[in-house]
Amino acid sequence: MKVLVANLGSTSFKYRLFDMSNERQLGRGGIDRIGEDADSNCFVEIGGTRSDRQQRIPDHAAAVQMCLDQLTAPGTGCLQSVEEVRAIGFKAVFAGKLSGIRVVNDELLDAMEALADVAPAHNPPYARAMRQLRSAFPAIPLVAALETAFHETIPIEYRTYSVPHEWVTNYEVRRWGFHGASHRYIGSRMAQLLGRDDAKIISCHLGGSSSICAMHGGESRSTSMGMTPQSGLPQNNRVGDFDPFALRLVKRLSGKDYDTLLDELSSKAGLLGMSGVSNDARDIEEAAAAGNAQAELALKVYAADIKKYIGQFLAILNGVDAIVFTGGIGENSDVIRGLALSNLDYAGIILDQTKNESVKGEATLHANNSRVQIWTVPTNEEIVVARQTVEALKV
Ligand code: ADP
Repeated sequence: MKVLVANLGSTSFKYRLFDMSNERQLGRGGIDRIGEDADSNCFVEIGGTRSDRQQRIPDHAAAVQMCLDQLTAPGTGCLQSVEEVRAIGFKAVFAGKLSGIRVVNDELLDAMEALADVAPAHNPPYARAMRQLRSAFPAIPLVAALETAFHETIPIEYRTYSVPHEWVTNYEVRRWGFHGASHRYIGSRMAQLLGRDDAKIISCHLGGSSSICAMHGGESRSTSMGMTPQSGLPQNNRVGDFDPFALRLVKRLSGKDYDTLLDELSSKAGLLGMSGVSNDARDIEEAAAAGNAQAELALKVYAADIKKYIGQFLAILNGVDAIVFTGGIGENSDVIRGLALSNLDYAGIILDQTKNESVKGEATLHANNSRVQIWTVPTNEEIVVARQTVEALKV
């Protein structure tokens, strides 16, 4: 069975095609600048051969059409025909209590659209693209794997906010947690790497969006993101945890309304807001190294928050076997890993500085005398979504 996994941004479409009989990746590709007044960069990689071209792509349906054309191109493609694609799986973010793995239907799309205010950067592009794809390719089932499902095993005391009870019962205000596919992958991969399935793991997914998850035996026990993907750690341009009562003061002093302030907190805050440099960790590290004090502070705050969550999760799990870094920052930034894990020898967490600076891919970076193992593991959210898509089709 061939399954296409789609990763959507508001103006981008990335995909991977898997043969699920052996979980082999047959091809992957990406298209950016969708719907913009400019040519998109389109690439496809099949069997180790990559080709690139520029072309105007008006919407996500056109992007998927291009992807299917690339995958079926005579001579260079890996499919005889589009009919071989049994389903398209999506790593969807948030549909409230419609969690789990679901065939995309009107009920799900309506729920995602209704919750656009909770996940403004994620839900609108997904719902829009899914609607387009449903009408453009009615014969291909679409399956959504909701990121929140993995966190349903979190005990109630770690899921509940101290808000009036009717907020919970009437409006479902609670911690949901996100990045489910990534943390699930890290949990199952670490079980293989450690050779045991009862390990206690702290999974640090640090990227454009960042979250940390405490896992025991591959199940989520607590996570840093709460009701929305704006919470938890500072994000690339979103705020992370914050005291809502500061808004009253800023509203009065700035004259801006609540909607404007919330937009600022979800697009001009986080690493971008603190550093004043960029939402990209590489630019911030470069600026900090050149002496930019605000950039240096942004890195320190981000790393300090990672450390605070690691401390919380050590307590929740009653110790940990391995701390894992994944995502663009987690896999690549020795600076952030070094700051976040500094002075944790009391808890048996000791980084090997040389390994930290040279590590690539799946590797360990703890010192010989560290009780806790420290790893970098590239995540693979797509294979998790592909597996879940196959499961959904069986029902
Ligand atoms: P997304 O959450 O959008 O999928 P990624 O997981 O790809 O994002 O992470 C993107 C982030 O990773 C960016 O902030 C980028 O700067 C950061 N990153 C990538 N490579 C490096 C590096 N070598 N050093 C520091 N940060 C890096």
